[in-house]
Amino acid sequence: MNHGCVRFFSFTRWAKFLWMVLFLPGNAMAEPPGTGETAAPARLAHYMPHMSWQEVEAYRKSSDMVLIPVGSMEQHGRHLPLNSDIVQATGICLRIARRTGVLVAPAVLAGVSEHHMGFPGTITLTPATFEAVLYETSQSLIAHGFRRLIYYTGHGGNYTSVGNVAFRINRETTATAIDLMHVEFPKPDARITELKNDSHAGVEETSMMLYLAGGLVRMGEAENPVLRYPPEVNEVMEKVDAADRAALLEGMLFQPERSGKKTSTREFTSNGVVTGEDLRTSSADLGRLAVDYRVEGVVRFIQAWKKVRP
Ligand SMILES: [Zn+2]
Repeated sequence: MNHGCVRFFSFTRWAKFLWMVLFLPGNAMAEPPGTGETAAPARLAHYMPHMSWQEVEAYRKSSDMVLIPVGSMEQHGRHLPLNSDIVQATGICLRIARRTGVLVAPAVLAGVSEHHMGFPGTITLTPATFEAVLYETSQSLIAHGFRRLIYYTGHGGNYTSVGNVAFRINRETTATAIDLMHVEFPKPDARITELKNDSHAGVEETSMMLYLAGGLVRMGEAENPVLRYPPEVNEVMEKVDAADRAALLEGMLFQPERSGKKTSTREFTSNGVVTGEDLRTSSADLGRLAVDYRVEGVVRFIQAWKKVRP
């Protein structure tokens, strides 16, 4: 009896395995999120990691423009995957590419995320290493004839470093590098502009993930955080005018544990999420709005730049 049972279950397992191998890749993953994963089931258009060198050579004859998604590998609460910033940066760049024909380079593996290191799975590079990787990636593209580099960053911790790399490329090479983090795109909808203190793995980011890669989001695990800011941060939030507040908080918030400021995410949020909103209000519909205004802003920027030179 026992042997029979074992054989029966083994056969069932085999049948399941075969079904998955034969049928799943084509159906369930027909619209891949564009995360740069090597197991992507189909070639994505305009995506350099999926292209051959001849295709890049052919592209280079008609354009010298390239989009470089920059993300991070860091905790995003209990409900979002570690690669959320890569999914968003790459997903948005691929949508821009479909509208403009501009090539999308592979996303950089990790970013500057020391302030999330209290949560397992986070991978961080020091600013010097991260800048060297991005700079040398850019230099490789320049060696192949690219002259207009557009960085699209999905992670705030990279802000200074990506700016530094663009600064160096612009001073040291004949190429022009633009860091889109320094461009403010008009937000079209009050549902986005009115979100309160919604900065990390919050409603906007969760919504974008639901829209771009819903299969990676586990809304059942979404939990609103308890936030415990240090007294000094609370004072700044209450007492300082809006314009100065942003500058002061920039120096105080999201600092690594070794700074002693008690504002690494492990120290001030109960689960890694930073939002004053209710995560349950996240939706793919809101995510589409949040993705679309970013895509629209970059598409307009690229079209203007193409008027100067196609
Ligand atoms: Zn993120």
